[in-house]
Amino acid sequence: MSLQTTIAEINLTVFENNIKKIKNIAKAVRTVLVVKANAYGHGIVPISFTGLNAGVDALGVATVNEGVTLRENGITAPILVLFQHSISESELVCYYNLTPIVTNNLALSYYQNYCKRMNKKMDVYIKVDTGLSRMGVRPEEVLDFAKEILSHDCLSLHGITTHFAASDGCEKADIEFTKNQIRLFNCAIDSLKSNNINIKDIQAANSAATLFLPEAYFNTVRFGLAAYGYTPDDFENPSLEPVMSFKSKVLVIKAIKKGESVSYSMTHTASKDTRIAVVPVGYSDGLPRAFSNKGKFKIKDKYYPIVGRICMDSTIIDIGNDDINLEDEVLIFGNDEVLSAQALAKELNTIPHEIITGISERVHRVYIK
Ligand SMILES: *Cc1c(COP(=O)(O)O)cnc(C)c1O
Repeated sequence: MSLQTTIAEINLTVFENNIKKIKNIAKAVRTVLVVKANAYGHGIVPISFTGLNAGVDALGVATVNEGVTLRENGITAPILVLFQHSISESELVCYYNLTPIVTNNLALSYYQNYCKRMNKKMDVYIKVDTGLSRMGVRPEEVLDFAKEILSHDCLSLHGITTHFAASDGCEKADIEFTKNQIRLFNCAIDSLKSNNINIKDIQAANSAATLFLPEAYFNTVRFGLAAYGYTPDDFENPSLEPVMSFKSKVLVIKAIKKGESVSYSMTHTASKDTRIAVVPVGYSDGLPRAFSNKGKFKIKDKYYPIVGRICMDSTIIDIGNDDINLEDEVLIFGNDEVLSAQALAKELNTIPHEIITGISERVHRVYIK
């Protein structure tokens, strides 16, 4: 049991079931579980072990540091570093057997030298920019880049990848854009094939494409969000469930009188005599302050409005005369239709990724099965 009052409860059984459902949808292709940003706030080490046990083939991280954390905790599966790292991290990439996704030639000679010294071979992937305009070489540059990689005897060109800009949208323009990205990616792959450069791992799909766009599978899918239980807003959820429940407890209950204001800057005034409950979760824990006077918490199947400004470490709700006691459990968000991270994201005009990765480090992650 956690001694902390405010926790992020991570249900590993739900997580495993989500992975199984996704694998079932993606059928025979290989799977990469994206665990960047502390596994989207769920805890990178337990999530990675659970994901591998549930059958994913590799892990994807954003930073070299995240990869090092996984290796130091005993993970031996392939770890793809999805983002360009700085050249000064090349030695770590080599030492920890991480697999870089290279977007330019700057680090190649460093990899080569470190690998030589450590007597190793390194798999690398080429990142193709097919329209996100973030990282990667253009499709027409892929062949020359591949040749340059292959000119280093310690480097093996294992894979090629691209990333979609709008696969989570279902407007016509989004669909057209994704189709064009697939077309450009195919051009890049063909340029290698026709020069007898054989690539084992070809991957493009993120969560949205994994769930809804089989033509983007190639031979590997690479997903994060779906595994944690969320889908793009405009698509039907294939029964994936949120893994994280953000919870707290009632810490203080007090009566306030009609006309009294609540919290900083007096943005809420009681319209009648009532009772308020103080919950020890604030914007520093990752509850967006934008929910001041707007959001709700749930206690025993009933929703209570957030009144006044959300503070750094606490939030106040109006509980009226309901039978609520100190220590009663409070749901901030979780596997709940009204209070899911997805619903909250929608209200703030953002994506669930931002809500779940925003849960701060001081919130204790508690794992249940
Ligand atoms: C974050 C990320 C993903 C995963 O995206 P989801 O929408 O969470 O599935 C896949 N590929 C790359 C390159 C990423 O940066």
